[in-house]
Amino acid sequence: MAPAVTVAHRARRRHTECVLVALRTVRRATVQELYRTLRSAGDPISLSTVYREVHRLVAVGRVREVVLPGGAVYLLPGDDLFVCDECGRIEEVPLRRVAVIQDADFFAQTETLTVHGRCTDCDR
Ligand SMILES: [Zn+2]
Repeated sequence: MAPAVTVAHRARRRHTECVLVALRTVRRATVQELYRTLRSAGDPISLSTVYREVHRLVAVGRVREVVLPGGAVYLLPGDDLFVCDECGRIEEVPLRRVAVIQDADFFAQTETLTVHGRCTDCDR
């Protein structure tokens, strides 16, 4: 029989992979949506495990959290984002931020930027 630590480690690695694969497929989702995606794919994962795993992945920088008025949405790290705080629309907008940050004498620790505001539809 495998030691308990190894079994737990393997289970966590499987959960990590499942969450990352699901996010790659749906592109962005709430914890609830991720949970429903994984369950409908036949994964017996629990909602609390999805919640814990997503937050662990956010803490280590493998998943990105965008806070919207209705709650948080999760996606894989990538382009800079424009987020409409009215309707929750998220657009990927390359902002070429690193050069700007370096010119300002800052040391960049994150490689992506999230700009919050209102989209043109909500601004009418
Ligand atoms: Zn909007």
